[in-house]
Amino acid sequence: MAVAARALLDAGKARRILIVDLDVHQGDGTARLFASEPAVFTLSLHCEANFPARKARSDLDIALPPGTEDGGYASALESALDRAGDFAPDFVFYNAGVDPHHQDRLGRLALSDAGLEARDAAVFAFARSRAQPIASVLGGGYGPVEDVARRHTIVHRVAARFC
Ligand SMILES: [Zn+2]
Repeated sequence: MAVAARALLDAGKARRILIVDLDVHQGDGTARLFASEPAVFTLSLHCEANFPARKARSDLDIALPPGTEDGGYASALESALDRAGDFAPDFVFYNAGVDPHHQDRLGRLALSDAGLEARDAAVFAFARSRAQPIASVLGGGYGPVEDVARRHTIVHRVAARFC
C-alpha cells in the first residue's frame, strides 16, 4: 500500500490518500513511512494489547480493548471514518486483515463473520459515498488455513456489492 500510494502521488494520480488499516495489529509500517507526508492520512483501528508493543503514531489511532465485539467495533469504526473523511481523500487504500475475528489465534478481538462483513461494508460505503476509488488488500489472519481463507473471501464478496 505504501509503495502504491507513493507511486500514485508521484504520478499525480492522487493528491490526498487515506490508508485505512483494520488489521488487528497496528499499521505501524505505513504510519512510520508517512509520518512526515501530509498527503497521506493513516488510520489504524487495532487491539491495544497486541503487536507491536511499541506503537507508531498514525494520523488517527483507535486502540480497542481485548474482547471488543461487533457493536463496539462498528461504533469505533464509524467515528474514525467520520474523522478521516475530514481529510477529504481522493483515494483510499484498505487493509482488510481478518485477524480481529473471534476465532483468530492472535487477534484478541471478538468480531463475528457478520462483524467482519459489516466492517468491510462500512469502508466501501465510505469510499463510494464520496466517489473515491478504493483498493483493498488482504491482511493478517491466523488459524487453520481453510478458516482464514474463507474469512478473506468476505471482503471480496462485500466489494462486489459496491461495483
Ligand atoms: Zn495482523
